[in-house]
This record gives sequence, C-alpha cells and structure tokens, in this order.
Amino acid sequence: MKKVGTAVSARRRPLVVGNWKMNPPTLREAIRIITGFRRKVGVSLGRVDIVICPPFPYLAALRAKFSTLPLGVQDISAEKEGAFTGQVSAAISKSCGASLAIVGHSERRAAGDGDELVARKLAATLGAGLVAVLCVGETSRDLQGSYLRVLAAQIKASLSGVPADKLNKLVVAYEPVWAIGAGKTAIGPRELLEAALYVRKCLRDTLGAKRGAAVPIIYGGSVDGDNAAALISEGEVDGFLPGRASLDPYQFSEIVAAAASARRRAK
Ligand code: PEP
Repeated sequence: MKKVGTAVSARRRPLVVGNWKMNPPTLREAIRIITGFRRKVGVSLGRVDIVICPPFPYLAALRAKFSTLPLGVQDISAEKEGAFTGQVSAAISKSCGASLAIVGHSERRAAGDGDELVARKLAATLGAGLVAVLCVGETSRDLQGSYLRVLAAQIKASLSGVPADKLNKLVVAYEPVWAIGAGKTAIGPRELLEAALYVRKCLRDTLGAKRGAAVPIIYGGSVDGDNAAALISEGEVDGFLPGRASLDPYQFSEIVAAAASARRRAK
C-alpha cells in the first residue's frame, strides 16, 4: 500500500531555516550562537540545507565571519529601491549575503502585511533570485474545519501570479499562528500531516498538479529537539522553520539531526 505521506513529500533534501526574529541583543552573542551550533551539528551539516535568518544589521558581519553559512532575511521590501525609509530590498539583502527571504510571516501579517503586499514581497524576492519561504497559517482552528479556507486563500492570493520559471526557488512554510511560541505540545504529527496534505492540495490547485507537487513544505510552530523527529517523519514535511529553538545551539542542532535522520530513513 502506498504510504500515506507520499503525497506530501517525495523526500527532498531537508531544509531547516532558523528565524531569529529580533534576537539576540548583540552581534557578539549572534557569533557565539553560530559557533556553538556549528560545533554541535557535526555530520548532519552535509545532509540538510540550513539557513539562519538573523536581524538585518548582523547580516554582513555574519557573512564575513562565516563565509559558507547560508543566511537569509526575515522580511523584505516589495520595492526595488528609493525613498522607503527603514525598508530593505531584496538586492540589498543579497549583496549583504542573504540567499533566502521569509515572506508573510504571521508577525509581519499581524503588523499589517496583507495578502496583496505579501504577494508583492514574494515577487520581489523571487525576482532577485532569492529563495522565498512563504509563510501561511491559520490563527485558530475550529471543529468545522473552516480554518482550512484561510490556508487556501493565503496560498491562492500569494502564488497565483508567480511565473513558472521562478517556482524552483519557492518553499511554503505551514505555520499555524496558534502554535508559534506555544510550547512543546502545540501540534501533533497527525494534525501536521493533515494540514500538510491540505497545503499540498492548495498548491496543486493554484500551480497545477506537477508544479504544485514539487514545492517543498516546511513546518514552523514550537519545533524543538524533542518533537522534531516525530513531526518530520510522521508529519511528512520537508523541514522546519524554528523560531525560539534556533537561538539555542543544542536545540537547533537536535532539530537538524532529526531532519537528517528522516532523510536517511527515507532512502
Ligand atoms: C516562528 O516564529 O516562525 C516560529 C515558528 O517560532 P517558534 O518556533 O518559537 O514557535
């Protein structure tokens, strides 16, 4: 019998993207976290794609210090250049060492980024040749399952205009808002699998069956070293977008190790 999760993940190379948010308070601490993480992660490093998304001002210094470490940004301007005080474009991010941008994180959506702006940010990211991690997720769940409509609407609104030749740089992060920062038992593998299957259906509906099947789906929301292994193997996602745990070298390396061994088992 075909394994249930095969519909979600054809076991692409796992991706773990650490979203540091507005942490840590000093560049020195940022360097200490990465140094600690690299010491711990050992052999997993070669089997998983890892990207750290620090606050913008640390980007260039971390690029200079860790020349091979993939870095990303947590948000991006929809604009190319010009009089946009406080914003940072995809080109500037790229020139400071970023290869990826998180787009539509729920904390940005809560600060006012609507679907239309998220779609423009996505276009700017992909247009500059960066990998885009598009975050989608419901704020709460209801027994009738109408929260699924939120996912469908977010995916459709952001992805309908994406040119086919840019889709190889697209990743979708399923991040239920209620699970972010909520703690260990926020979501179970079964619940994650159901949501990931639904996200995959929405991707197929929006992008077409073949293209929609090829987009990696990662999960974010209270992932840590204890729950990562079950979430990735039973939840059948392609990786993670951890927040808090990505600032802890031990937790982050455990998440990476879980992603690495899920890949080994799938071979
Ligand atoms: C996030 O903010 O994207 C996130 C998943 O945070 P946490 O892992 O802390 O829940």
